[in-house]
Amino acid sequence: EPIDLVQLVKRTVERYRHETEAQGLTLELDVPAERLTVEADADRVAQVLINLLGNAIAYTPTGGKVRVSVTEREQDVVLKVSDTGIGIPEEDISRLFERFYRVDKARARRSGGTGLGLAIVKHILESHHGHVDVRSEVGKGSEFTITLPKQQKGEETAL
Ligand code: ATP
Ligand code: MG
Repeated sequence: EPIDLVQLVKRTVERYRHETEAQGLTLELDVPAERLTVEADADRVAQVLINLLGNAIAYTPTGGKVRVSVTEREQDVVLKVSDTGIGIPEEDISRLFERFYRVDKARARRSGGTGLGLAIVKHILESHHGHVDVRSEVGKGSEFTITLPKQQKGEETAL
């Protein structure tokens, strides 16, 4: 089912604007003016964005910035969620997408999550033949990059 990723991202991000600004964070949205069609499940793609945005908001102190962007790259669409938050230590990056994995107890107490958000993100991306990359620096912030193929393999129209 083709969906317009630009519309979906705009709608989802606007649902979080109030919460984000109430926490003293700036929310920046950078999407193309035109549609960007991708073959994907709208609810699941929205869930990916909600989980990443929720993390960016939870792990960014007041005064920080959260940014969401959509671009295209050849046969893929690229969704980035970045923040100027606490960052993730290098040694934790490889385990981040495991179920129930949380970086440390101090943070766990502060935000009260379960450690499932990123495992769900990874699962959804795998089911769409996409992937997720993370770049992060402690004390500076994090950037999660989602890549999704515009078309699901084997579903192209036969000539
Ligand atoms: P849940 O999402 O289930 O409520 P959670 O946020 O702890 O709980 P994940 O979303 O899977 O779980 O994230 C795992 C861990 O990765 C978090 O506990 C946090 O330590 C770290 N993390 C995730 N996103 C960020 C981010 N944007 N900045 C800093 N740390 C992050
Ligand atoms: Mg989370």
